[in-house]
This record gives sequence, structure tokens and C-alpha cells, in this order.
Amino acid sequence: MLEYFNAHCHFLTASAFVPDNVGAVNNSAKISEWDFVIESAQQSQNIYGAIGIHPWYIDNLPDNWDVLLQDKLLAYPDLTVGEIGLDNKYANMDAQIDVFMRQIVIANALKRGVHIHCVGAWDKIVPILRNQEYTDIPFILFHRFNGVISDWLGMEKVYFSYSPARSLKRVAETPQNRLLLETDSENVIDIVQWTNRVADECKISKNVFVNNAQRMLGNG
Ligand SMILES: [Zn+2]
Repeated sequence: MLEYFNAHCHFLTASAFVPDNVGAVNNSAKISEWDFVIESAQQSQNIYGAIGIHPWYIDNLPDNWDVLLQDKLLAYPDLTVGEIGLDNKYANMDAQIDVFMRQIVIANALKRGVHIHCVGAWDKIVPILRNQEYTDIPFILFHRFNGVISDWLGMEKVYFSYSPARSLKRVAETPQNRLLLETDSENVIDIVQWTNRVADECKISKNVFVNNAQRMLGNG
């Protein structure tokens, strides 16, 4: 039975050891990672795969990258879209927006949830993700969330995920039914220690994180 859920990690291999009581979303950052993310998700019902192009890796994409993404998503109906987003610390925001928007359109058309990386670009992300054109995206997970919680309270499909780098005060301020925890690393099972710390210090039941993840992913 699941006791812990790592809402955002990067295994970096197809066969990381994940105990039966830990669930995870394994995210890719670039095309070369998609296949082992898919393989990892096929090895356990507790592992979910997300494929996409991270804003740090938009250079030198093949011309048909969006067709490749769409074809993989069509071939694997359980996959979601991530890690995608905008990062103001990296160059070429116009190109980042183009790659991001094409992935949002695909996610909406195929009704897949999205795993979002946003650094210093909330002024751009907020209007895109609040746009009524994209209401078929079933969930939005903000990983390492550092935006304004109240911007999103009206959208029930938005979840906020925090890594151990985040202050517990911020975690405690987040509505419990939208709260997720992550390691954002290849150390999937470090989520156990992080979850136990949050549960103890914020007085939150550990079940909250598993329940939220399962609801988000459509299994709750
Ligand atoms: Zn990540």
C-alpha cells in the first residue's frame, strides 16, 4: 500500500529501486529521456511517467519534436506532460514560450495533465494557464512552487509541490487538499524523510500526500 508519494523526480535510469510503499512521477527534461521514463512507468503501477521538453533544453530540437511528443503520448495513454515551463534565468524567452505553448496545446488536445517549472516568469505563465482555451488539461502541478498561492485557489485542478529546499512555513500555508511533496532529484526514496518531517512539524497526516496525488492522477 502506498504511504509516500514523490510528486516530481527524475530517476535518470529505467530501473531505479522504488519500494512498494512509495509512488512517484518520473519526469523527463529532454527527448533522450522519454523512453526510459516510459519504461520506468511500465515497471510498476506506482510509477507515473511524464514526458516533455524542459525550458533549459530547447536548443537544437529536431523540427518535428512536437510530432514526436504527440505520437508518444498517443501511444501511451497514461503518460502526462512534463517537465515543461518557463525560466527567466535562461536565455531566449521567446523560444521558451513557443516550445511551452506547443506542449500546452498538445496536453489540452490529448487531455493530459502538466508538470510545470516556473522561475521568474509568473507574469507569463499565469495568463497562459488561466486561459479558457486550455480547460481540457485535467491537472496542473507546479513543481518547486514559488508563485502566489491565491492566484490559483479558484482553479481546483492546480496542485502545489514542494521540495526539501522550501520553508515549512510555506508548506503549512498551502491548502492541504492541493499539497504535494517532491525531491526533484534521482533519489526517489528521499521523499520518505521529507514527508515524515512535514507530517511531524506541520501536523499533516501522511495520507494527505498520497490521496492528493491519486486524485490528481485520476485514481483517487
Ligand atoms: Zn524537475
